[in-house]
Amino acid sequence: MSSKHNLSGIGMTSQRTRERLLGRLMDQGIKSMEVLDVMRSTPRHIFLDEALAHRAYEDVALPIGHNQTISQPYVVARMTEAIVTSGSLDRVLEIGTGCGYQTAILARLAKQVYTIERIKPLLDRAKKSLKLLGLKNIEYKHGDGTLGWAEKAPFDAIITTAAPQTVPKELLKQLSDGGRLVIPVGAEGHQELKLITRSGSEYTEDILDLVRFVPLLKGQVQH
Ligand code: SAH
Repeated sequence: MSSKHNLSGIGMTSQRTRERLLGRLMDQGIKSMEVLDVMRSTPRHIFLDEALAHRAYEDVALPIGHNQTISQPYVVARMTEAIVTSGSLDRVLEIGTGCGYQTAILARLAKQVYTIERIKPLLDRAKKSLKLLGLKNIEYKHGDGTLGWAEKAPFDAIITTAAPQTVPKELLKQLSDGGRLVIPVGAEGHQELKLITRSGSEYTEDILDLVRFVPLLKGQVQH
């Protein structure tokens, strides 16, 4: 049986390797039991090519093709914790579906997840992996997430998993009152992970961490 269809992944990665990852997340300051539980029970190996699947439970970003990466588990946990602990999560928008790993974590914590990816083959593969996990509360869009998803707004939270140079105005507009935007901002290599909270027409900003994300690019790619 191919590891792609081996949902448990046990045998390929030991339970101990996975528990070690959980320990690492806690050591790095992740406290939300809700987030830790979901990270413990969501397989990461099914989102990777077979050749890399044995490294799925290391706390590192890994290549997923098309010059993109699956986010580091710690960063996924940190971004998710920031929106889980700060308010309601009925409607969440994710920009940069990539392989769909962060999408899976969000779908298990939010009522409805909307996700946008600009590279068509990545989106198609992510859909398959998320279907394999039985997650049905996800709507997908192939397009430029810089513009958000106006028809589905407002969102309780927006997570951007690629970094723009400045915060796209459309995303701020599409937050609900009390909504939160978690977004890496800045030049490639050294970005600040920001948590922006809307209260009426006011926006407050906290800096959560220093991170490295791929750039948020304009337009969309078919192949
Ligand atoms: N959460 C993903 C991260 C993938 S990397 C995962 O864990 O797999 C970031 C993704 O953002 C890439 O797939 C990239 O193609 C996508 N991206 C970059 N700019 C975008 C844009 N303007 N709109 C939508 N997706 C974008």
